[in-house]
This record gives sequence, C-alpha cells and structure tokens, in this order.
Amino acid sequence: MIKVENLHKTYGKDVRALCGVSFEVRPGDICGYIGTNGAGKSTTLKILCGMMDYDEGNIEVRGLKLPDDRNEVKEITGYVPESADMFNSLTVKEYFRFIGDVRRMQADTIIRRSEYFAGLFGFTQHLADSIGKLSKGNKQKVLISSSLLHNPDVLLLDEPLNGLDAFSIMIFQDMIIKLAGRGKTILYSSHLLDLMEKVSSRIIVIDRGKLILDRTKQELQNSSEFKSLENLFRGIAAGDSKKEFVYDEAFS
Ligand code: ATP
Repeated sequence: MIKVENLHKTYGKDVRALCGVSFEVRPGDICGYIGTNGAGKSTTLKILCGMMDYDEGNIEVRGLKLPDDRNEVKEITGYVPESADMFNSLTVKEYFRFIGDVRRMQADTIIRRSEYFAGLFGFTQHLADSIGKLSKGNKQKVLISSSLLHNPDVLLLDEPLNGLDAFSIMIFQDMIIKLAGRGKTILYSSHLLDLMEKVSSRIIVIDRGKLILDRTKQELQNSSEFKSLENLFRGIAAGDSKKEFVYDEAFS
C-alpha cells in the first residue's frame, strides 16, 4: 500500500508543485496518475521513491515511513524516471551488474534476470554494447528492465514508454498487468490516455498540485457521464475555454 496524506512540496520560495495531495494505492492496483504538463506528477514520484524531500505531509510505502525509512523504501521500490543520466560508457551488461550490486543481488540472479528482460524486450544483441550507443527506445528498455531487476513490491513509473516501439509497448502493458496480478503496487504516470484507460484499475488526476479526481475505473465506467478518459481529460485540461487548433487563426 502507498499512503500519501496532505503532501506539500515547494521548489525554491514560491513554486508550489504539490499543495496538499492525498491518495492511496493498494497492492494489486495499477493507479494511473495523470495531469497536464507541470501538474506535479514527477515531483510526486520522486518523493515516493525516496529521491526527493518534501515540506509537509505523511507518506507510507508498504508500512515504511518517508523520510525516516528512505533506504528500506528504496529497496522495495522500482522507479522508472522520465529521463535519466545513465552511465554511457558502461555496457548494458555492466550497467545491470552495477544496479544489481547496488541492490545487493547475487551475481547469477543479476545475469539471469538481465538476460530474461533483454530477451523479452528484444535487446539481447545489445547486452555487450555501451549504453551511449543505444537508440532512445533501447535505452528506455534498459531503464525499465533495471528498475525491475530486484523484483520490487512497488513500481513507480514516470512516462516509461518514451521511445518504445509498438510491440514493446504491448509487452510492457501485458507485463504490468501480470505484475499487478502478483500483488505489486503500481503508480503509473503517463500522458497516453488510451493505455492508461486500458491498464489502470484506478485513475487519479492532478492539476496544479491538487488532486481533482480519484476514482476506480469501475466507478468511472459506471457513471453515465463517462465516455472515455480522453473525453474526461479534455474537459479538465481545457477548463471552460474550448481549445482547438484553428488554421486561419494560427497563420493569419
Ligand atoms: P510533465 O507532465 O511536464 O512531466 P509533471 O506533472 O511531471 O509535468 P513536475 O515535473 O512535477 O510536473 O513539476 C511540477 C511543478 O514544479 C512545475 O511547475 C515545475 O515547473 C516545477 N518544478 C519541477 N522541478 C523543479 C525544479 N527542480 N526546480 C524548480 N521547479 C521545479
């Protein structure tokens, strides 16, 4: 279970990224965390994985409290960041070894799981290549795989599909549904609303640092007003002003 209560985070003096956010994600849930650019999604995930401090609030991750149990939280959490500085000079294999060592994993387990994920996502032929030479999508596959290497209980995903090809996206989608089926707690931030609607069991919408919707998918689908997540989000993001591209306005 992830429990977030009244979470506040301000950058510098006055950038209020999170203004009293509260929510829960249960084991077995895939919680879609959506919102417009700058809404506060990445900030929430960075705080939850123990990477970033917060100003006020209470956070529990599987009974562990942040910030006091930061190290234990890191041990049970897999985090896929929006983008990451990876060690470009290491080979993929060396990178997995490094991540596995940090996680205090056995060498043979690291090798077995690295090879498994490389096979699953189709980058086996790149295991001996340096990370700097990989394409954007393959780097992202390495990032996803490395976050799963220690079989974490909690998964925090920040737009994890950046650059992945359509087939790998399907594999990923199927994989996280199966991981949730094994009781993993998954908080998944993405702008891909179709995919969010497909995989999520719960949907949270954040806007300018505040939660504006928190419902199970079932509750949403039972509501007569609900057509699709895209439709719902369109209403939230555009507010009262109907925004759309008008050719003659743009190029007058
Ligand atoms: P996106 O969908 O564009 O990734 P997001 O919902 O993940 O956006 P955050 O990255 O959490 O949004 O940013 C929330 C707010 O905090 C924004 O106003 C952003 O400009 C600000 N912010 C984020 N990181 C920093 C930082 N390091 N220093 C100052 N302000 C920041």
